[in-house]
Amino acid sequence: MYKKIFYPVFALVTLIFVAVGCLSLRGDVDDKGDYDCTSRNEITRIPGWKFSYQIEAECSIPDPYDVSLAMQVFYVNWHQRFGDPADVVLNNLNNILIEWRKNAMQFRNGYRVDGTFIQEGRAIGLTLDRGHIVMMMETSQKIYDTSFVHELIHASIRAKTGQLGDPDHEGTKYSGWTKQHTSLIKEINEILRLMDLNYAEENKKGYEF
Ligand SMILES: [Zn+2]
Repeated sequence: MYKKIFYPVFALVTLIFVAVGCLSLRGDVDDKGDYDCTSRNEITRIPGWKFSYQIEAECSIPDPYDVSLAMQVFYVNWHQRFGDPADVVLNNLNNILIEWRKNAMQFRNGYRVDGTFIQEGRAIGLTLDRGHIVMMMETSQKIYDTSFVHELIHASIRAKTGQLGDPDHEGTKYSGWTKQHTSLIKEINEILRLMDLNYAEENKKGYEF
C-alpha cells in the first residue's frame, strides 16, 4: 500500500472524485470495553482557534495541541512571507476542518509540484475546499511528515484569491502558487521538526492559549 503512493506530494484538484461522505473512524477500546474514543473524538476542537476542528485518524493522532501549534507556526511564517492584509488567511484557519486518514486517497486529475499532470493515482493529501483539507497520517508519522503544510498553502491561496487554490502548483495553467510557496513548505516543516525535538510530553501539561 505504502509504496504505491506517489511522491513527492502532489496536488489535487478535486472535490469531485473523492468520497467524503463516510467519516466513520476506527477507535480503540480498552480491556473493560468501556472506553471508546471514537465516539468521543469523532470531531475534535482544535484549541486556540475559533471554529477549527479535526477528524483524527485514531484517538489523538495527531494530538490537537500539536495541530494547533503547527497552525500557528504556519500562520506566522505565511504572514512574514506574504502578509495577510484583510486577515482572510487567518479567518480561514479559524474556520477550517482538518481531516486525518490512515490510508491514501484515490484521485483523478491532479498535478505534481512542478505542474506535471497526473490522470489518476493515490494521494497523501487533498484540499477539498478552502475550509476542508484531508491528509493521510500513519501512526509513526509526525505532522511534518504529512502533507499538512502543503494543503494549508492550497487552502490559504484559495481563501486569498477566491479561486481554486492553484492545483497545478508551479505549473502555468493556474496562478497563485510560486516557488516561494514551495520553499515555505520546507521551511515550516523544518521548524516543526526542530520544535518536536524539544517538545517533551511534560511540556504539554497546562498548555493553554
Ligand atoms: Zn498540492
